[in-house]
Amino acid sequence: MRHRIAVIGAGPGGLAFARVMHRHGHPVTVLERDPAPGARPPGGTLDLHDGLGQLALDKAGLLPDFRALSRPEGQAMRILDTDGTVLRDRRPAAGDLANPEIDRGQLRDLLLAPLDVQWGSGVTEVAPGTPDGALVRLADGRQEAFDLVIGADGAWSRVRPALSPATPRYTGVTVVETSLDDIDTRHPGLARLVGDGSMAVYGANRSLVAQRNSGGHVKVYAQFRAPLERHTGPAGADTTRSQLLALFDGWAAPVLGLLRHGTAFARRPLHVLPVSHSWAHVPGVTLLGDAAHLMPPLGVGANLALLEGAELAESLATAAPGGLDAAVRAFEERMWARAAKWARITAAGLERLVSPDPAEALAFFDELQPS
Ligand SMILES: Cc1cc2nc3c(=O)[nH]c(=O)nc-3n(C[C@H](O)[C@H](O)[C@H](O)COP(=O)(O)OP(=O)(O)OC[C@H]3O[C@@H](n4cnc5c(N)ncnc54)[C@H](O)[C@@H]3O)c2cc1C
Repeated sequence: MRHRIAVIGAGPGGLAFARVMHRHGHPVTVLERDPAPGARPPGGTLDLHDGLGQLALDKAGLLPDFRALSRPEGQAMRILDTDGTVLRDRRPAAGDLANPEIDRGQLRDLLLAPLDVQWGSGVTEVAPGTPDGALVRLADGRQEAFDLVIGADGAWSRVRPALSPATPRYTGVTVVETSLDDIDTRHPGLARLVGDGSMAVYGANRSLVAQRNSGGHVKVYAQFRAPLERHTGPAGADTTRSQLLALFDGWAAPVLGLLRHGTAFARRPLHVLPVSHSWAHVPGVTLLGDAAHLMPPLGVGANLALLEGAELAESLATAAPGGLDAAVRAFEERMWARAAKWARITAAGLERLVSPDPAEALAFFDELQPS
């Protein structure tokens, strides 16, 4: 009998899983809460590392398509002092394909192409161990049983409680995201400041990072230490802009131009799961990606989610008859070990990048990208 398998969430992890299963001739059920693929802005650019995200795309047979779409020049990185002095200006060598950038929307569409996702299917709960398998309950009242349910439903996973009591903890660092469109035409000075890839400025307990996406779109991330705001209701763009300009007061005018001209501000308090998060194995349910190991956004979360999705699919697709549970157990052990290593690196990285001493941030950058 073919196993009934569901993956919850059509983010990078869930789609990589479904796409590699599809490649091996095993269609799976994909349940996604969003009503449609373009229902919300897809988010900023991602650099896919060789050996992580690129390996996942290779397992999906998508490396040539990735190479055609991705931007190797996006690996360029500039670091400026708060007065605008250029401290580092790294450009990729010709033929360097270690970490090319791709827009999230492009990556999603690449993975999604042949898949049949059930959009508008928000999962509320998974109950493992029923006589019929693991039962998935949906917000619209539907329920369905599967032999295996994979929670790839991100930071606030509704699958995780079936396995673990852990919940994400606030890191003390908040990111406010804004963006500029058509930067080369509308703001050529800012376009030169950002360059072909990313630009970062580190001050005491705060930083500004700008990243070029395709089509002249630039995302800007203002990061700072702040208490978690419990109230809510979005502040208007003008209020948020003024608050940020006050927070970054005294920084070079061209750098602040990124905030002055940004549109649509979104506040994202950064949360993490405990480093080395794991759980006692439960037959019929597992997690991958942010649902399993949410960590600070330092360029690996999507890479890990992609690779885990691809690896789990490969091992399930090639498992011996009756070997489904053993394959999931082996996957979990491997995922936990690798994710714990990255969780430690990114937790230390966040402390150093948003630190009272900006020299720490520069030292961290130099360790990651020795000249
Ligand atoms: C500002 C920022 C910048 C980042 N930059 C990078 C980067 O450069 N490189 C990198 O590798 N990583 C980066 N990350 C991290 C990366 O975004 C995540 O690690 C990655 O998206 C995790 O993928 P995922 O598939 O596990 O989860 P997600 O991308 O969160 O996808 C989860 C999916 O599940 C769906 N879902 C949620 N709940 C339910 C439910 N109850 N029922 C059904 N569906 C549900 C969601 O709608 C979503 O589609 C960044 C993160 C942030 C916040």
